[in-house]
Amino acid sequence: MYSIQRIEVCNFKSFKGYHTIGPFLDFTCIIGPNGSGKSNVLDAISFVLTLNASELRGSHIKDLINHNATSADESYVKMVLTSKNDDEMPIQASSKVEEESESEEGRHPTPPQEMIFSRYINTHSYSSTYKFNGKGVNKVKYIEELKRCGIDLSLRASFLIFQGDIRKVATMNSSERRDMIEVLCGSADYKEHHLSLVES
Ligand code: ATP
Ligand code: MG
Repeated sequence: MYSIQRIEVCNFKSFKGYHTIGPFLDFTCIIGPNGSGKSNVLDAISFVLTLNASELRGSHIKDLINHNATSADESYVKMVLTSKNDDEMPIQASSKVEEESESEEGRHPTPPQEMIFSRYINTHSYSSTYKFNGKGVNKVKYIEELKRCGIDLSLRASFLIFQGDIRKVATMNSSERRDMIEVLCGSADYKEHHLSLVES
């Protein structure tokens, strides 16, 4: 099981220059005055998870570049995932996994495995490119690697709840809330399978 350990942003929205945000724990709360950039952190996570600029409150990718950055500056978001449980690592681990040094038996625990997903904005063409563990990949491969780390973007409507959506979740009836939880924990797949077995 992987979780977000930290994100690194450079000239992304209100973050001028390079910033590390984290570490994120099992439960992390971001607090700050209005306009201080709390939602921009969620926008950064959404951006590195491939969402379009139009889905991030900005109508164009250009709006995601910090206003004070020049076209010579880099603009990107990196998301660092870590897993402490070796049993649950993806089957075909990336080169980074292979580079891990073996720990001395029983003395040093294996360091957390890092998986690094990054999305760069081209500040001239206003397009974006993806990297996985520092290597350029196309979007399809990138989404596959995210899925192997347990982030299934087909479920993103359930695991990313934006500021305006909170009311929708809070006012769901019990059956809608149960459906959402079933999708999130994966039991909905078994339910559909079970229903099709009963029907056939
Ligand atoms: P609230 O509590 O009201 O929800 P917030 O902490 O979530 O506020 P954000 O919406 O994350 O605040 O940040 C808004 C700030 O980000 C604004 O001051 C806005 O000017 C700034 N901002 C947004 N895009 C850019 C950009 N491209 N360059 C520089 N600043 C930006
Ligand atoms: Mg906000």
